Amino acid sequence: KPTLRLILGDQLNARHRWFTELDGATIYVLMEVRQETDYVLHHAQKILAIFAAMRELARQLRQLGHTVHYIAIDDVESTLSIPENIEALIRHYDAAAFEYQAPDEWRLDQQLYQAGRRSRIPWLMVDSDHFYTARHEAADIFAGRKQWLMEFFYRQMRSTHQVLMEDAKKPVGGQWNFDHDNRKPWRGTPAEPQDPRTVHDHSRLWQSIVAAGVKSFGAPHADRLAWALNRDEALQQLDAFIVRALPHFGDFQDAMSVKAWRLFHSLLSFALNVKMLNPREVVARAQAAYQAGHAPLAAVEGFIRQILGWREYVRGVYWAHMPGYAEKNFFGHARPLPAWFWDGKTKMHCLSQAITQSLDQAHAHHIQRLMVIGNFALLAGLDPARVHGWYLGIYIDAFEWVELPNTVGMSQFADGGLLATKPYVSSAAYIDRMGDYCKGCHYDKKARIGERACPFNALYWDFFHRNADTLERNPRIGMAYRQLEKMDEAAIADFKEQARKMLANLDAL
Ligand code: FAD
Ligand code: SF4
Repeated sequence: KPTLRLILGDQLNARHRWFTELDGATIYVLMEVRQETDYVLHHAQKILAIFAAMRELARQLRQLGHTVHYIAIDDVESTLSIPENIEALIRHYDAAAFEYQAPDEWRLDQQLYQAGRRSRIPWLMVDSDHFYTARHEAADIFAGRKQWLMEFFYRQMRSTHQVLMEDAKKPVGGQWNFDHDNRKPWRGTPAEPQDPRTVHDHSRLWQSIVAAGVKSFGAPHADRLAWALNRDEALQQLDAFIVRALPHFGDFQDAMSVKAWRLFHSLLSFALNVKMLNPREVVARAQAAYQAGHAPLAAVEGFIRQILGWREYVRGVYWAHMPGYAEKNFFGHARPLPAWFWDGKTKMHCLSQAITQSLDQAHAHHIQRLMVIGNFALLAGLDPARVHGWYLGIYIDAFEWVELPNTVGMSQFADGGLLATKPYVSSAAYIDRMGDYCKGCHYDKKARIGERACPFNALYWDFFHRNADTLERNPRIGMAYRQLEKMDEAAIADFKEQARKMLANLDAL
């Protein structure tokens, strides 16, 4: 009797230990199911890329001689849930056992766990062989601490995994973090490297997704889908990044420009999150580039921190705080998203650029997500649960374990400061310093009051003023409160009135 092994859409690791042996008694199961297309409204490219990459892995496994059972989106089984399909397949094949890799989402973890309790055959969960840390490792590291400082976790990771270390104990270069050398605006040089991604035509797959009635948003670009769909393509993308972009990654990590949508970022998050690439190999390649003198330490350390630090850390936050983290709402924010979140049609140039790009590319780089879109959402008091739904749907790399802590914790401060030491908000000054969006904007970046005043300005002061009770004592934001103290009552009344009018009609901004 065979064993069934389930491969989820974000478990496309062709080098998983499962595949090392060819075994006639194992059937690998992949499913394109409506429960996964419909749990949130997704960007078209996200659905397409995941399904196309699943089909590619199934093809490769078959080529190697493995047996694969594939449920496609136009099969009737696609409307059944994952456990319903598993039950039916267990009956169909008269399977002796069922195995699955640990899911990264709480939702799927629970669903499969509960189904396993009902099953009559052995039901086994194995590791996905992907992350540096176990699900509960961050919680162990932070046991008893009120605040979960990423930097503390990151240093532990560097030591434990001996990344960028000297004599086992000291960080290479004498310091752990080179952020103060990074974060420069980009004025056009060096040139943005060419997009290294392979383009595919998946028009027929897209037609069957649409014909099955799957709802989505954003540009499908089905005839020129540009995401890596297998490990070879992901490795080519990694090679190109290491050679052309990594040396400048640190300098322009936080830059924004209308002339360059991805700047020196890697665009590897999709390949990493669906597990075509392992974080260890990406970190090792970056470290080797430093050792060979191809990239400066500040850039390499900055890049490695995102993967060895942030990525593992947010996963730890997720598992320690689920369920319940998705409902966090420290400020009690309740406003719905303005309509232009869905079409990018706002007069605010920074937001129209970041959202239009997200709709077109299913991607925005970190600072667009954090300091343009997230910044506005927090200042405007948008409902964090709806903001979370939007981020979870729109980005190609959005899987709840990584998206939720970034959105609800880092960007919306909805967990009350567990993850972020202060709310990530700014007025127009920061957006202007880090990019060129303010040039040519309908609004005046310097003005706080009046028809043409940049909305970020009054909303910024209104945010700190209305949250004085909860934020004033935070030492990291003392500056804002000292400036507020210097304002006279008329100035405060003016910005509050300006903010009130804008908040009453966000759609018009
Ligand atoms: P690079 O800038 O080249 O960075 C390299 C890698 O580091 C990324 O591929 C990613 O794997 C990792 N990384 C960088 N920053 C983070 C971070 N804050 N948390 C976890 N990993 C990080 N990232 C996702 O992978 N999925 C998400 O759904 C997601 N949602 C986000 C939502 C918000 C509100 C914010 C502020 C950030 C979010 N991020 C998310 C983090 C980050 O923006 C993306 O990882 C990054 O933009 C992906 O592009 P890249 O591969 O070019 O990244
Ligand atoms: Fe954005 Fe304000 Fe600058 Fe316009 S002026 S681009 S709205 S920060």
